[in-house]
Amino acid sequence: MIKDIKDRADSVLVKTYKRFPLFVKEGSGCRLWDYDGKEYIDFVAGIAVCNLGHANPEIADAVCKQAKKLFHVSNLYYTKPQVDLASWLVKNSFGDRVFFCNSGTEAVECAIKLVRRYFVLKGETNRYKILSMEKSFHGRTMGALSATGQEKLKQGFYPVLDGFDFIPFNDIDALKTKDLTDVCAVIVEPVQGEGGVCCPDEDYLQKVREICNKAGILLIFDEIQTGMGRTGKLFCYEHYNVVPDIMTLAKALGNGVPIGAMVAVSDIADAFTPGAHASTFGGSPIITASALKVAEIFERDNIVGKCKKTGEYFVKQLEHLKSKHKCIVDVRGKGLLLGMKLNIAGNTIVNRCMEKGFLINCIQENILRFIPPLIIEREDIDALISCLDSLLQNENL
Ligand SMILES: *Cc1c(COP(=O)(O)O)cnc(C)c1O
Repeated sequence: MIKDIKDRADSVLVKTYKRFPLFVKEGSGCRLWDYDGKEYIDFVAGIAVCNLGHANPEIADAVCKQAKKLFHVSNLYYTKPQVDLASWLVKNSFGDRVFFCNSGTEAVECAIKLVRRYFVLKGETNRYKILSMEKSFHGRTMGALSATGQEKLKQGFYPVLDGFDFIPFNDIDALKTKDLTDVCAVIVEPVQGEGGVCCPDEDYLQKVREICNKAGILLIFDEIQTGMGRTGKLFCYEHYNVVPDIMTLAKALGNGVPIGAMVAVSDIADAFTPGAHASTFGGSPIITASALKVAEIFERDNIVGKCKKTGEYFVKQLEHLKSKHKCIVDVRGKGLLLGMKLNIAGNTIVNRCMEKGFLINCIQENILRFIPPLIIEREDIDALISCLDSLLQNENL
């Protein structure tokens, strides 16, 4: 059976993914099981997606209930779950208006289109450039890819979109000295996720905000990975005493259903008039029903507060590991978006962990990333830590 899945995958799927030999059959909470019944504790959570765990029964019920009523109608009509979810996002963020789409990259596309159009409508047609950060990740469609500061992801796809420029992340002088006359917006992840779990200095984003204000340009926070409680606040910008004009969300918003959202303040959002932008599936009832249940559970169970506490505990354990193992060079991150940099290749550790029943992820060759469901228990963290402890013991020799 497993061999059949693998053989067919190898012959019928486009080869975009280098997959681990793990055949996931089902999940519950922080656990996954393969077809042999082997159990894994999941510190990947579908890349920071399943914040409330796998196959969450309450969310499953909400989706089933909605599915029996109405899957989808066109955005030519009103549906209540979409409006309820937008209301929740507006109530709980800086934003006034929401556009729903189906993924992170689409939320970024939406933001790119909006900032360009905002300045065109203001008559400042020369302001079309978007300033992004080196090592950033914003998605794979052409616009979002053009905004992504990683050369290797663009190989083979040139020419990418015109009008993007890059500066080093967390380097305020690089922004200060930039000519901003033709720039319409700065886009930045409050904590860089794919780039290596990189947190900026405490005052960096505030200073970026000040420079944007002075230059009369917009600030976009890509919170696709950092949003929905992941960093110990509902949205990561809350850590830094700063608000953007536009924020992109996706990943954990629906706990696993495909959803993206762009949140914006109203005078900027108003640059989108009827017909300016659209999505067939965006904000459909079945998808927004899932996200609404996520929102309800977040509030009822204080998921964000729990994430903060659990994250602090997790970091302490990782720091303790670092004090014991020379191959660990850095521990960083916020909440349950954590990274541990090694001076050895990370992939062997990832593979060994998988053998022992733990799923972790490696980014940028040597940074282990831990992004478990926010409901993870200390016992599960302890189990991973002791697994890492014994694996790294051997690496140190
Ligand atoms: C994952 C991610 C994206 C892309 O989201 P997709 O849903 O894969 O298109 C964009 N920005 C950030 C910060 C992300 O982490």
